[in-house]
Amino acid sequence: MDLMDRHCPSCGARDHFNVPQHSRDHWKVCKCAACGFVYLQNPPHYEALVEDFAWEKTQKVEKKRRKTEATLRDVDRLTRWRMRLFRRDEATLFRELFGNGRVLDIGCGLGARLPEPLIPYGIEISRGLYEQANAVMQERGGYAVHAPATEGLKSFDDDFFDGILARSYLEHETEPMTVLTEAHRALKPGGILYVRVPNYGSINRRLTGGQWCGFRYPDHVNYFTVDSLKDMATRAGFELRLTNPLNILVDDNIKACLVKG
Ligand SMILES: [Zn+2]
Repeated sequence: MDLMDRHCPSCGARDHFNVPQHSRDHWKVCKCAACGFVYLQNPPHYEALVEDFAWEKTQKVEKKRRKTEATLRDVDRLTRWRMRLFRRDEATLFRELFGNGRVLDIGCGLGARLPEPLIPYGIEISRGLYEQANAVMQERGGYAVHAPATEGLKSFDDDFFDGILARSYLEHETEPMTVLTEAHRALKPGGILYVRVPNYGSINRRLTGGQWCGFRYPDHVNYFTVDSLKDMATRAGFELRLTNPLNILVDDNIKACLVKG
């Protein structure tokens, strides 16, 4: 298999320390010696990711793994209820943040995440999902593009969007700085990039170690803390505002608005 040999995706430094307790099989998790960013050092090249590690396949493997390993996040009835509540809250949040503006969903899947009256746009790598998303979005005045995220972002004009969603996405992206920089360019001044990523700084990660729900090999390639996300966002020209500041230590996810100044 053709594997990458990554430099730090945040600051570009080469030197790193291995983090053996979070590495698994031949997947190496490491920490940048210069800025402290935690990342998967040797993910498969993009082509292999599409062919061998398509999301649907790794999902199945992960589900099996999780069934056999106890975590603090066993999906009980209460958790399912909370997740439904969260989805509803998220739709409300997007309406509040973006009004009836143009909003791009990176990795938009079926294109159903953006509530009305937003004008939905999407980028999707899976052809089947893209076709369905595009049909849904065109009916509401937007459209989807079938491309990898960086390429898709580059196809939009400067200052075009009121908002961009990177929801459960940046942890998969081998070039997160490029994506943040392109998102910054495509947003209007004052526009918001909404980010949701697993929270490597959570207490749960420290308690459950290698069993933490945020580890997914090899398709989670970046492991953000609030500080490392802020660091990257600042260099791309954003100001970071957490939407879950009060429970950030016990939340397995970081949810943040990155505001274009
Ligand atoms: Zn670094």
